[in-house]
Amino acid sequence: MNMNVVEASGLGKRYGSTWALRDCSLAIPAGHVTALVGPNGAGKTTLLNLAVGLATPSAGGVTVLGGRPPGSPVALDGIAFVAQDVPLYKNLSGADLLHLTRNLSRRFDQAYAETRLAELGIPLKRKAGRLSGGQQSQLALTLALARRPRLLVLDEPVAMLDPVARHDFMALVLTAAVDDGVSVLLSSHVLAELERVADYLVLLSRGQVQMVGEVDDLLASHRVLTGPAAEADRFTERPVVHVRRAEAQAHLLVRAGVDDPVPPGWESHPVGLEELALAYLREPGAAALPGPTLPGPTLPGPTLAGPTLPGSGVAGPARGRHAEHSEVAK
Ligand code: ATP
Repeated sequence: MNMNVVEASGLGKRYGSTWALRDCSLAIPAGHVTALVGPNGAGKTTLLNLAVGLATPSAGGVTVLGGRPPGSPVALDGIAFVAQDVPLYKNLSGADLLHLTRNLSRRFDQAYAETRLAELGIPLKRKAGRLSGGQQSQLALTLALARRPRLLVLDEPVAMLDPVARHDFMALVLTAAVDDGVSVLLSSHVLAELERVADYLVLLSRGQVQMVGEVDDLLASHRVLTGPAAEADRFTERPVVHVRRAEAQAHLLVRAGVDDPVPPGWESHPVGLEELALAYLREPGAAALPGPTLPGPTLPGPTLAGPTLPGSGVAGPARGRHAEHSEVAK
């Protein structure tokens, strides 16, 4: 499975004078559950729409499933997309939607879809418009997975779901990834949920890639150092991504590995994905900090004309490698 499911080079999308996405260069290898994270308006939906062929680039290019143009027959056949507003024909019943999707798909697993909807307690006869928002999301995901895609693209799939439904939804996504080898690319603001499922991260900020790489590598190259607040401003041992102060103590998220020395009076702790992502979201300029090189995926040089540096998980002028607990406000 040595291919990139999405590869962008200098990709940009402009609406009038506004760049929704700019100089986006990245490669997402197959076999991952990739979290696409960024503040409101960062360009996540724009990137997903470009990848599935619902929008055309204003600059650069993007390919999918190992070099195929978005919207090509192979891409249409191999990619299932659930858009942010869960577009379903509201007057059609679940059974009608299954029938319609089956007729539009080369492979459609009817038994899987029926079993899954029965497990969820979603009546096949009820019109989609009379299902709850969460049930509509589940129906859309079921239709997408029954198409047996190689790449599943989900734009904020859990926004409408209650905590239990959210958990179940992500469990199903993870099952598809692990058992069926489906690559998943999903945007979400629910960092805690992503932390459970994602093993690859793309962080966008103001239309540009700020960080990209395997989650394990990104986590291994950051630590939280806790020490006296009075010393935080004078801390120069490691590049500091973000400083959080709590009375007499400061918590510094720094670029460092587990074996890097810790200054006297300071303690070093591992970092979680949520904490890492939040720190970078709070410090949009942090990607430019210097740091050690990430053992990330080998990205083809010529396609990386943009800000993401080959072998580096962090985008920016310096090669560098590279998260507090909550939901990023929408
Ligand atoms: P959110 O988290 O709020 O869903 P996002 O990261 O998905 O945000 P996009 O929807 O991709 O962000 O939008 C990126 C930028 O492009 C925003 O400034 C948005 O206003 C602008 N934009 C997106 N679509 C259009 C459009 N059709 N016409 C004009 N501007 C647009």
